[in-house]
Amino acid sequence: MSELAVRAAKLDAADELAGLRSRFALDTVSDHAADAAGVYLDGNSLGALPAHVPGRLEDVVRRQWGELRIRSWEESGWWTAPERIGDRIAPLVGAAPGQIVVGDSTSVNVFKALVAAVRMAGDGRDEILVDATTFPTDGYIAESAARMTGCELRAVTPQEVPSALGGRTAAVLLNHVDYRTGHLHDLPALTAAVHASGALAVWDLCHSAGALPVGLDEHGVDLAVGCTYKYLNGGPGSPAYLYVREELQDRFDSPLPGWNSHAEPFGMSPDYAPAPGAPRGRVGTPDILSMLALEASLEVWDGVSIDAVRAKSLALTDFFLECVEARTEPGRLECLTPREHARRGSQVALRCADAGKVMERLIERGVVGDFRRPDVLRFGFTPLYVGFAEVERAARVLGEVLT
Ligand SMILES: *Cc1c(COP(=O)(O)O)cnc(C)c1O
Repeated sequence: MSELAVRAAKLDAADELAGLRSRFALDTVSDHAADAAGVYLDGNSLGALPAHVPGRLEDVVRRQWGELRIRSWEESGWWTAPERIGDRIAPLVGAAPGQIVVGDSTSVNVFKALVAAVRMAGDGRDEILVDATTFPTDGYIAESAARMTGCELRAVTPQEVPSALGGRTAAVLLNHVDYRTGHLHDLPALTAAVHASGALAVWDLCHSAGALPVGLDEHGVDLAVGCTYKYLNGGPGSPAYLYVREELQDRFDSPLPGWNSHAEPFGMSPDYAPAPGAPRGRVGTPDILSMLALEASLEVWDGVSIDAVRAKSLALTDFFLECVEARTEPGRLECLTPREHARRGSQVALRCADAGKVMERLIERGVVGDFRRPDVLRFGFTPLYVGFAEVERAARVLGEVLT
């Protein structure tokens, strides 16, 4: 065994979270690998399946839908699922109950949050700042939101935000972790800067929720959105969430006021009156099957501290970088992910000219990451189910593929 493999075994033996892996249905899946055991480093794109979810979903379909039918809206708690599951996500992102509602996609929630932020910002504020490095959907939505609200849209990097803010800024839309590079942005400092200029901060947590502490309440974030199928393991296309800080809820004027967010949804009134609290962020009938799969999957977080997850995430990415350095020729790869812990999310992005081909080879050999055009290899580290021996193996296979 190599020195790194010995170290990996020691790290796994000392890992307090190692037992959580059994909560997932992983070892039955070979990731269509030639190698016997695959290494799944794409949980930042689609989280793994928790072992108990298929059975739960079967009950939802067969009993709740099949037998109880319409009664399930009440008796199986379908109607209140968006807020109930929001409260289940809340501790993972540092939010007190009553501020998060689950539903729709991240894209749709970006739209709700951004338009509502501009509407709350007040007169004379007619500019939106958007993260120039954002995941594309946020940028597209921001462009449309700006057009609809009569705002000017300016794309700036998170680092440029403090100097770009001014008396005209209504809202700033930022990604907490850069989906390409894994760069973690300074949410507390940027939120404080946005507030100092009198604007509202909207954060996209897709690549941070479930991977590191966010502290929404503590840092006074105004609005936030995120998906649940990455680090939260909700399943393909599971619904996203919207956080509206409690003090702002009464002023939250949704651009998509559907009957589900009405104060009296079954009053069937032709006039809209918004519900109080988190339900104000709802739109239409929730997608119950996906939502209840998400609810079941969130049980894997029972008894898990997000601080412990963060500590393991940093140890995994540190160890991966060390193993990659030991196994590849200098200059073959360029690391885009910051070395500094305070600026690193839970992924490692490596640049190489033939990244597309390299990732194909890796996947053939059971090491599943992803390729981001034009030249980035992306590896996500999900501390609930990835261990150090796997990290060592992935780096070893990468080294072999590169030579
Ligand atoms: C994954 C991701 C999305 C996805 O948006 P959907 O509407 O859920 O498809 C949005 N924003 C960021 C930053 C992401 O990483």
